Amino acid sequence: MSELVNSPAARDIKYVMHPYTNLEKHKEQGPLIIEKSAGVWVTDDAGNKYIEGMAGLWCTSLGFGEERLVEAAAKQMRELPYYHLFTHKTHVPAIDLAEKLCTMAPGNMAQAFFANSGSEGNDTAVKLIWYYHNAIGKPEKKKILSRIKGYHGVTVASASLTGLPYNHKDFDLPIHNIMHVDCPHYYRYGEEGESEEAFATRMADNLEKRILDEGPDTVAAFFAEPIMGAGGVILPPKTYFEKIQAVLKKYDVLLVADEVICGFGRTGNMFGSETYGIQPDMMTVAKALSSAYLPISAVLVSEKIAEGVSKNSGKLGTFGHGYTYSGHPAAVAVALETLKIYDERKIVDHVKEVGPHLQKRLREFEAHPHVGEVRGTGLIGAIEFVADKATKRSFDPTKGVGAKIMATAQEKGVILRATPGDAIAFSPPLIITKEEIDEMVDRFAQAVTSLA
Ligand code: PLP
Repeated sequence: MSELVNSPAARDIKYVMHPYTNLEKHKEQGPLIIEKSAGVWVTDDAGNKYIEGMAGLWCTSLGFGEERLVEAAAKQMRELPYYHLFTHKTHVPAIDLAEKLCTMAPGNMAQAFFANSGSEGNDTAVKLIWYYHNAIGKPEKKKILSRIKGYHGVTVASASLTGLPYNHKDFDLPIHNIMHVDCPHYYRYGEEGESEEAFATRMADNLEKRILDEGPDTVAAFFAEPIMGAGGVILPPKTYFEKIQAVLKKYDVLLVADEVICGFGRTGNMFGSETYGIQPDMMTVAKALSSAYLPISAVLVSEKIAEGVSKNSGKLGTFGHGYTYSGHPAAVAVALETLKIYDERKIVDHVKEVGPHLQKRLREFEAHPHVGEVRGTGLIGAIEFVADKATKRSFDPTKGVGAKIMATAQEKGVILRATPGDAIAFSPPLIITKEEIDEMVDRFAQAVTSLA
């Protein structure tokens, strides 16, 4: 008995406040304790093996056993385990990574600011946007638009950017000056007889109307993930970004591409912005930047923003922003090694090769009576389950259909993620093979069959 009381599960329930968990339910259900990992597999404390169909949280792109990343961290920690970038200090790995990111990113990025998570990256982006507009004498231009169902993190500003009710409700968010516009999900919000292109035009028209209603001189920036991830793997409709960018340009509104999920190969190009013809003014990256072996994120900014921020810091005496761990040497070293491996192993070509296989296998579920839409590209996808296929009516959210499918899939040995609207997401490590994709999808198919 005392063993049970002191078991890791009992202590977890007692001491750990879990992110994104029904904490009441957790007291009865208890945790899944993951102990070991290799490649695309993880193993729990009872010895059960699972394919990690989500690469953790859309992040362990090189899988779970990449020794070179372990070595890169260890080597760096022996040489210089910690240093910071405050007050003119620096170290060469941080310089190398900033240069590498600016060189490889689309949209003429001039400088990189380092943080530790996607949330901190987006929080920093918000602050840079405000600081920049004060710097260039446009203090009224402060409103930031993001999209319903967009996901940008959970700090106060980034949770405000996020467009999901559970990130706002009872947290008293969103904060002032952050507001939400249409979710461009054609399957859900396209009107009867409306083509995908016409829907994209309507989205852009609505955005223009909103900017005019708010007053163009008050709207500073628009945040968008190339593919909306945690909101349900929602792909932009054809011509969407082309039309949205024309509106933003017209009213001098900055475009921030949140590449936290899409960056580094996920969509079959190095960046989601390349897949969808996005030319951002700023970009946030995290997750696959280090294959998640150590926490690191970066905000990349264009020349004009870097210059504006620099001038203002000169005027004010300092740029009053930065984290203790901005550019942490070990995290930076792991990121540099990760980018080297992507290059050497041609990770983008690999995604181009195996991605269509995943997409084909997922589309086999289109015939299922409760599958409304299968969507995705590269190595990201989702299957949306609906109560009524003909009317697209969703299941009653209180029934937790997506969560049940996710739990059954876990019993069958594949870890996936239920996103809002009962869409089950797939985002496996980018190193996954066609055989492993088959194994993952076959296991998921057993879970779907057992529910039918
Ligand atoms: N932006 C996007 C697109 C994300 O998917 C996430 C996390 O899933 C974040 C930002 C927040 O990143 P983090 O959880 O590292 O704070």
